[in-house]
Amino acid sequence: MPDIRLKAASFGCTLSAICLFLWLISSATVALLVFSIGLLLYLVSHISYLHKLHLWFKNPVLKEMPEGSGVWEDVLTSLLQYERNNLSKEMQLSAALERFNLTADAIPDGLVILSPGNEIEWCTPRAESQLGFNLSTDKNLPIVNLLRDSHFIAYLYSNAFGEPFKLKSWRDPDIIFEIQIIPFANRQKLLICRDMTQLEKVDAMRRDFIANVSHELRTPLTVVGGFLETLSDMEGAVPKALKTYFTMMEEQTDRMRRIIEDLLTLSSIESNTEAPDDSKIDMAGLLKTVQKDALGLSQGLKKAEHKIHLEVDPTLNLSGSRDELLSAFSNLVSNAIRYTPKGGEIFIDWHIHHKQAIFSVRDTGIGIEQQHIDRLTERFYRVDRSRSRETGGTGLGLSIVKHILIRHQAKLEIASKIGVGSTFSIVFPKSRIIHKKVNMPA
Ligand code: ADP
Repeated sequence: MPDIRLKAASFGCTLSAICLFLWLISSATVALLVFSIGLLLYLVSHISYLHKLHLWFKNPVLKEMPEGSGVWEDVLTSLLQYERNNLSKEMQLSAALERFNLTADAIPDGLVILSPGNEIEWCTPRAESQLGFNLSTDKNLPIVNLLRDSHFIAYLYSNAFGEPFKLKSWRDPDIIFEIQIIPFANRQKLLICRDMTQLEKVDAMRRDFIANVSHELRTPLTVVGGFLETLSDMEGAVPKALKTYFTMMEEQTDRMRRIIEDLLTLSSIESNTEAPDDSKIDMAGLLKTVQKDALGLSQGLKKAEHKIHLEVDPTLNLSGSRDELLSAFSNLVSNAIRYTPKGGEIFIDWHIHHKQAIFSVRDTGIGIEQQHIDRLTERFYRVDRSRSRETGGTGLGLSIVKHILIRHQAKLEIASKIGVGSTFSIVFPKSRIIHKKVNMPA
């Protein structure tokens, strides 16, 4: 296709040549007249094309694009090509959008995109029906205006989204959702809402079964344990030859009793969907109790086998269930003692770090190999079964800790080196911190 400038130049040359010829054979006036008329016609043809194009732009239907000749042929052909490309890109884009919408609708979970300020930017129809939103009216509204559950709000602002959050539907409390938040892109969040009602029912049946079995076993075991104790207290009731077997029977009964107690504790914490009572906990006092119990566990207050250090930030308190947290802290400290040989040291620490409150227990014990660390909070997972048994372990302690922490939106971090020791840290979100004023001595 010749260049537009060439076509325009060739028109100019032809008109000039005709005019020169007319000047030679006639007069300059005739030549000038023909030149002016030629230019005028040229201008009129351009204006006519511009007008056609202007009309077409008002209703740009591809089939109705005007045809042109000369330079306009090139311009209009290029424009047609450009429009065709645009149309095909538009079609590809809307097909991709359609596919995305169909895929999003087919996902059984509800999806919500939240802005950095936690306003609803977009959500799927599934999320609308699950959470009671209406995108056309609720778009750009803060999600906390629509989901007013105080624990959900605490979870949203905690920025600790490692574990999902369980939310009861405000329309029907029998419906339980699992909410998972994933930060992405420019401080936006993707909220995934999964209906867990059926799974929760099955899980509740399993928990009830374990709780019922444990309950049923508790009474006969208490009776057997009682008789064994009475017999061992009775002078001459147990023949000397059977004494060892008798002691073993007592130890095993005691072990079974501890397992049953831990199973009952675990199932009651797991099945408790109510939020923990958020009382204000005096951490300095609570941790003194933990330290005292730990010294007791480490073979009596006077000749403790371990050195137990306590360091507490006196300005830092916590909101949560005192009993549950005492149980979690004691579990970690008791593990530190049980897995640290005589003469070892235990460091209990309570401080603030990066606006999060951290309770940590560091020991100079046997340590844990890296491959076990992720599995330690599973029920009955033990690195060394015999050591756990010898020290009176049930394999359920860290499971209990994990469930208590989930209820407090906290997380457990474990660092360990074989032969050097382990550090178990509980990281509490900012929302659970209570700052306490401490009177400085004058
Ligand atoms: P257990 O009753 O057996 O101690 P837990 O659930 O409390 O059960 O702990 C699970 C396992 O984690 C333990 O069996 C032990 O192997 C390991 N463990 C826990 N705490 C420590 C620690 N401080 N040092 C070394 N190993 C530990």
